[in-house]
Formats: sequence, structure tokens, C-alpha cells
Amino acid sequence: MINYDSAAGLRALLEERGLGMRKKFGQNFLINPGVRKRLADALEIGEGDEVWEVGPGLGAMTKELLDRGARVRAFEIDPGFIGLLKEIFTGREGFTLVEGDVLKTWRQAAGSLAPYLLGNLPYNIASVLLANFIEEGRFFRRMVVTVQKEVARRMAAKPGSGDYSSFSVLIGSAYKVSPLMVIGGASFYPAPRVDSQGIRLDLRTDIGNPRPTLFYPLVRQLFSSRRKTIKNNLQSFVSSRIINRAPLDILLPVLEQCGIKPEERAENLTIEKFAELAERLGDDGLF
Ligand code: SAM
Repeated sequence: MINYDSAAGLRALLEERGLGMRKKFGQNFLINPGVRKRLADALEIGEGDEVWEVGPGLGAMTKELLDRGARVRAFEIDPGFIGLLKEIFTGREGFTLVEGDVLKTWRQAAGSLAPYLLGNLPYNIASVLLANFIEEGRFFRRMVVTVQKEVARRMAAKPGSGDYSSFSVLIGSAYKVSPLMVIGGASFYPAPRVDSQGIRLDLRTDIGNPRPTLFYPLVRQLFSSRRKTIKNNLQSFVSSRIINRAPLDILLPVLEQCGIKPEERAENLTIEKFAELAERLGDDGLF
């Protein structure tokens, strides 16, 4: 049995197995049992619940979830870790392993999409993976993820703050964002130089699904030059999505209906306003 709490123990295990750590895969093991427990607690799962786990590594969180009676589908890219995970968990009730890059493999597994996701996410794929799920209409009832503190700040940012970005709007349009504890480098082996943070995301039921074909490109366009006014930012966007009509003839009345001043900037709009804007532009014929 692996001692997941000991940096020295994990180092020795990796050496004994001839397994290297790969920086490009963002490999840092969570060696703090208290933090592991709190993250699993935040998922609020029970016996038999289906959980997707991204990046199980050596299986510390996997064990935590299986011990709680969850059924775990784990997505891991590192062939060395995959071999070890198979040794440890094969035959354990409810455990399945999906080998390869989760950015590609999750779609094949999407037919069995679980209601819960947990992941101490590799820093280089965290934002892309979460954005892919949302933009492709794959929603979880609840996710608990660990990301770099800066990413957590962007996820939870409110209008008007410097951290408010298209990613904040994307995440906030689908999920209620609850920041959990900040996790210092000492809780990981090897210790990263930057702090991480746990984040709990609960699927929103109070907001309709925004028009995906318009909402996401609109939000990205509006934040692409965040200092530009909404009117200036959206003119070419509108004209590229409409035929035979002057863009301002559509844009100005729609902004007025939404109660948005043309000189306003995207960084001050609430998520609900972005959704309303996309909805009304769509109603007015934008594709
Ligand atoms: N869950 C373990 C823990 O908390 O101790 C390890 C987390 S470590 C930060 C990230 C894990 O994600 C590593 O096991 C790494 O190999 C894996 N990983 C990195 N990129 C991946 C990808 N594109 N697809 C699947 N797994 C990936």
C-alpha cells in the first residue's frame, strides 16, 4: 500500500519503479491528507455515485473516492502512472481507467458522463478542459478542482475587477463558483513555486442555457480588446454574422433594449447581461 502522505515515500516508490516526473504534465502529488479529505468532502458524494477523476497520478484521490463508495472513471496520460494505477486498482469495484490525453479521451467517454468531476488539474490544461466541457454542452452537477491560485481568482472574479475575463463569464454562466482553501506548495510533492486553490463548481439552475453559437464567440470578442467600448468592439462581429443590414441598425437598438450603454466596456457587464445581449442579437437575426 502506498503512503500518499510522505514525499520521501513517493520519491522512493518512483525511483524503485524507474518512473520519472514530467514537468509538461504538471505532476505534483497532493501529500496533505487533510486537504485531500476536504476536497473529497466538498464533492458531497455518496455510495454508488459516478465520478470522473482527471489526472489520478498515483491514485491518492482515487483511493479517497473509492473508499467513499464512489464509482470512479479516471483519466491519466502518463504511461508509467497508468501501469501503477492498474496494479493498485484493477479489480476494485467501480474503478475504470481511461488512458491518454483527457482533452481528447473525454469525448469518447462522454456517453457515460458522470454527474461529478474531481481533479487536481494539471496547470497547462485546466482552463482549456473546463472551457471545452462548457462550450460543448457537457455539464456536471458538481465539480471540485484544484487549480493555480491565479486561475481560481479568474474563475471567481466579479464584473469591474481586473481578473474578470471571458473565462470568468464562461464558468459563471454555467456554475456557481465557490472558492475553497488556498493550498501552499508544501502540501505537494514536488512543491510547486506557486500556490494552488480548491474550487467548487455547482451547476446553476437559476439561469437558462445561453445560445451557445452566439454567446461564447460574443463573450470572447468582447474581451479580446477589453478597453474598447462595446459599440466599437461589436460592430465587425455583428456585420460578420448578418447579411444585407447595417450593423449599427441592429446593435444600437439591441443595446438599448438590454439597458447597456454603447460606451460601456465588457469588463463591467454581468454574466446575465452578456446572456441577454446574445439572446436579443439572436432574436434579431444574428447567426
Ligand atoms: N491526482 C494526483 C494528486 O492529487 O496527487 C496527481 C495530480 S497531478 C497535479 C496531475 C496529474 O494529471 C498527473 O498524474 C499527470 O500525469 C496527469 N495529466 C497531465 N496532463 C494530462 C492530460 N492531458 N490528460 C490526462 N492526465 C493528465
